Amino acid sequence: MGETTRRIRDAGGRAEIITTDGPKLLALGDGYLDLDLSRFPDVVRGVGDELAIADGQDLNDLCLSVNAFLVETPDRLCLIDAGDGARRAPSLGHLEKALKSAGYDRADITDLFMTHLHGDHAAGLVQDGARLFENAQLFVSEEENRYWNAPEEHDAIQATQAPFALAALEAYRERITLIKPGQNLVEGVEAVGLPGHTPGQVGFRIGNELPVLVSADAIHLPALQIKHPEWGFLFDADRSKALETRLGLLDAVVETNIRLAGAHIPFPGVIKVVRNNENIGYETIRD
Ligand SMILES: [Zn+2]
Repeated sequence: MGETTRRIRDAGGRAEIITTDGPKLLALGDGYLDLDLSRFPDVVRGVGDELAIADGQDLNDLCLSVNAFLVETPDRLCLIDAGDGARRAPSLGHLEKALKSAGYDRADITDLFMTHLHGDHAAGLVQDGARLFENAQLFVSEEENRYWNAPEEHDAIQATQAPFALAALEAYRERITLIKPGQNLVEGVEAVGLPGHTPGQVGFRIGNELPVLVSADAIHLPALQIKHPEWGFLFDADRSKALETRLGLLDAVVETNIRLAGAHIPFPGVIKVVRNNENIGYETIRD
């Protein structure tokens, strides 16, 4: 097993600090998802295998981190995404343990900032129809809310995710704040539009001069998709829009030196994308 794969499989229940100049940011390990390569239908074997091996992974034994992020401000405790919940234990659903290792309980969370409402991000919000974060408000983009309430727009793949989205929207219905890209949610946290994976997907930019962009599911597998952004993911609702967003994101982070975090970037889920002439790659960031 490669070194990165080992790190991904060991991340459930862990919490790690990511340095920013804004609010305190922590990565929380919900666990990992074993993944068949058929989820990345465009990957060219050979080229892809070499990239994976160079990154400490193996396309024949692929797994994806499932991360959430915690933002602490002086008076709020904000969770970005809530993991996969208890539905696919034992490799997933360790968010509560990760929160505890950061010194918190679910009841301490004041705000839930959702990147989008697929099951691996939203199933952890609800159990048996009830809110798991009893004191929290749910922040979801206006477009994401609209999309999951429009079943005629879902293809067969997105339809598999609708129950998780709708269960979350229902359980928190009196505590939902609809947001728009560009909006500041708390001091030092701004929503950024990243449409494609879902129509209403947003990321969250944390910090000011030394920011981190929590980029949701714009990139699933940095080992492959930084060099080959055209290798899309089967669960992207609109794959050409997702590619456009991924390309724009990569250009933006290279130009601005912003660090990139993500729900599926190998735990602790933050990288720095670097480009030298035509050669693009990334460095794993661990504080
Ligand atoms: Zn995801």
